[in-house]
Amino acid sequence: MTNNTANSGSGEPVSGLVIVNYGKNQLVETAAGDIIRCVARRGLPQIVCGDEVDWLRTGDNSGVIETLKPRRSVLYRASGNNDQRPLVANIDQLVIEAALEPALDYFLIDKYCIAAELAQTEPLLVINKADLLEDNDRERIGVLISEYRQIGYRTLLTSALENTGIEAFSACLTGKTSILVGQSGVGKSSLIKRLLPNQDIVTGRLSAASGLGKHTTTSTTLYHLPQGGRLIDSPGVRDFHLATVPGEALGNGFREFRPYLGQCRFNNCRHRSEPGCAIHAAVAAGHILERRMNSYHRLMS
Ligand code: GDP
Ligand code: ZN
Repeated sequence: MTNNTANSGSGEPVSGLVIVNYGKNQLVETAAGDIIRCVARRGLPQIVCGDEVDWLRTGDNSGVIETLKPRRSVLYRASGNNDQRPLVANIDQLVIEAALEPALDYFLIDKYCIAAELAQTEPLLVINKADLLEDNDRERIGVLISEYRQIGYRTLLTSALENTGIEAFSACLTGKTSILVGQSGVGKSSLIKRLLPNQDIVTGRLSAASGLGKHTTTSTTLYHLPQGGRLIDSPGVRDFHLATVPGEALGNGFREFRPYLGQCRFNNCRHRSEPGCAIHAAVAAGHILERRMNSYHRLMS
């Protein structure tokens, strides 16, 4: 084989799944479970973890990504100048983790719920550190859980420390591609360890395949769950910021607002203090929580 053929690849492109994104390089998993270190052909959009691609072999364990297959969903991160950068693709479920420690941040939870809705992925709210709950906390958490359930979101209570609620959590992840987000310190790494007892073995294999030395946990990585399903761990996504969304689209991100959108007296109602506002009427009637309307206004400004 000449150098030329080696560089431009040989054979037909075959499909694969991007399981790690190092920026310049991607690790692509083949249907047989082999891991190939790839570079993307010039001119392709930015490739991210979770992408399905066609790649061409250029060496024993190396290849070139030739085409990017259509994405079912994309999670974007707002960058400095407020344009959007894709972070991960083909996610079915955004797992929003929260805990009493660090303090519950309702606005952050809402932001993640909206991001999930706008990315067309299903949110799942997981309250971790159940073992820390005192009686009065239980009441607060109970209210929080029932409020989100009323909106239509699934919620779970877990303790990574005491290994409780993990089976129910695992069951929610089966057969789907999920990503875990939430404030630092709520227990994301601890929960991932419970879900992926063999994480160290997998990262060892990824290090070997990358040829880059130790696989750093700062790279967005897709793991296969033992019970079937995929979990993407992405430090970059963990505390990502929602890109600015126009008011109209934002309203749609609040699931319980939807029946009332378009019912306001004014077409361009910002649902602040305009007369004939259907959202305000729904708040007054107890169909929408005031807290959620406040989150909407904070995201608008
Ligand atoms: P991350 O920053 O979200 O990845 O959080 P970590 O998994 O690193 O956990 C942060 C801290 O919370 C660590 O000290 C963990 O031991 C602790 N932690 C994690 N899960 C639980 C839990 O269920 N209960 C309690 N009490 N502590 C936990
Ligand atoms: Zn209105």
